[in-house]
Amino acid sequence: MTAQLIDGNALSKQLRAEVAVRASALRARGITPGLAVVLVGENPASQVYVRNKVKACEDSGLHSVLEKYDASLSEADLLARVEALNNDPSIHGILVQLPLPAHIDAHKVIEAISPAKDVDGFHVASAGALMVGQPGFWPCTPYGCMKMLESIHYDLKGKHAVVIGRSNIVGKPMALMLLQKNATVTICHSGTANLKAMTLQADVIVAAVGKRNVLTADMVKPGAVVIDVGMNRNEAGKLCGDVDFDGVKEVAGYITPVPGGVGPMTITMLLVNTLEAAERA
Ligand code: NAP
Repeated sequence: MTAQLIDGNALSKQLRAEVAVRASALRARGITPGLAVVLVGENPASQVYVRNKVKACEDSGLHSVLEKYDASLSEADLLARVEALNNDPSIHGILVQLPLPAHIDAHKVIEAISPAKDVDGFHVASAGALMVGQPGFWPCTPYGCMKMLESIHYDLKGKHAVVIGRSNIVGKPMALMLLQKNATVTICHSGTANLKAMTLQADVIVAAVGKRNVLTADMVKPGAVVIDVGMNRNEAGKLCGDVDFDGVKEVAGYITPVPGGVGPMTITMLLVNTLEAAERA
C-alpha cells in the first residue's frame, strides 16, 4: 500500500485564506489583528523562524511587529518589554522566540505574557485550560496536527493514538488534544521499554522526538495515520523528520511529509490563534 499524503502546504494555504477573510472583516470594524514577535540574540534558526512568522502575518493581512534585541538584554528589561506589549491595544498576540539566552529564565518570561495574548499557548494558564477542556490557546504545533487529522475527516473515537515524545510544547499537549477527541492515548518517551510494541498497536502515531528514523516501517500497523513532527537534518544537510518516510509510506494509510507537513501548519495555527485573540479582544 502507498499512503496518502497529508499536505501541510495545501492545508495551510486553505486555512490562511480563511484567516485573511476573517482578518479583513475585523479590519472593516477598525481592528487590525496584531502579533508581536520578540527575538533575543542571534540564533540563526530562530532568525529564520521569526522571519517566516512575520511574513506569514503580512501575507494574511495581520499586523506584525518584530522586536529584536541583543543577546545581552537583561531579564528585567525583557520582562518590561513583555509588560508593555501586554498593555498595547494594537497587539493581540505576543510570541517570545525560544530558546532565550542562558541568563534569562524562559519560564518566567512566558508566565509574564498575558494569557489573553498567549498565542503560542505555552503559558501555564493555557496548558491548564487545555487540560481541563476550557477555552484557551492551544500550542500551535499539536493544534496543527489536529487540523491535519480533521482535514482527512478522521474520527478519533475508539482509536488508539501513540504519541512519541512528551515535551511541554508538543508531546504532552498533543496527547491531551487526542484524548479530548476521544482517542485512547499512549505517551512514549526515552524511557519507554519497547517502543515498537506500542506503535504496532497504534491507529495514529505522532512522532515528536527530534531523531531521524525513530519510526520505521516494521513499527507501523498497516493503514495507520503517521504524523511526523520531527525536524532533523540528514548527512547531506537535507531537512527530514523522525519517520523513515520512504519505508513507512508503503505501510501507513496516511502520512505527513517533511518538509511540507507539520512545519507550515505550525505557523498557520499561530495566525489562527492571533486572529482569535483579536476577535476575543
Ligand atoms: P524535546 O523537548 O527534545 O522532546 C523530545 C522528546 O522525545 C522527549 O520527550 C524525549 O523523551 C523523547 N525521546 C527522545 N529519544 C527518544 C527515543 N529514542 N524514543 C522515544 N522517545 C524519545 O523536543 P520537542 O520540542 O518536543 O520537539 C521534537 C521534534 O519536533 C524536534 O525535532 C523539533 O525540532 C520538532 N518540532 C517541530 C516543529 C514544527 O513546527 N514542525 C515544532 C516544534 C518542534 P524524554 O522526555 O524521556 O527525554
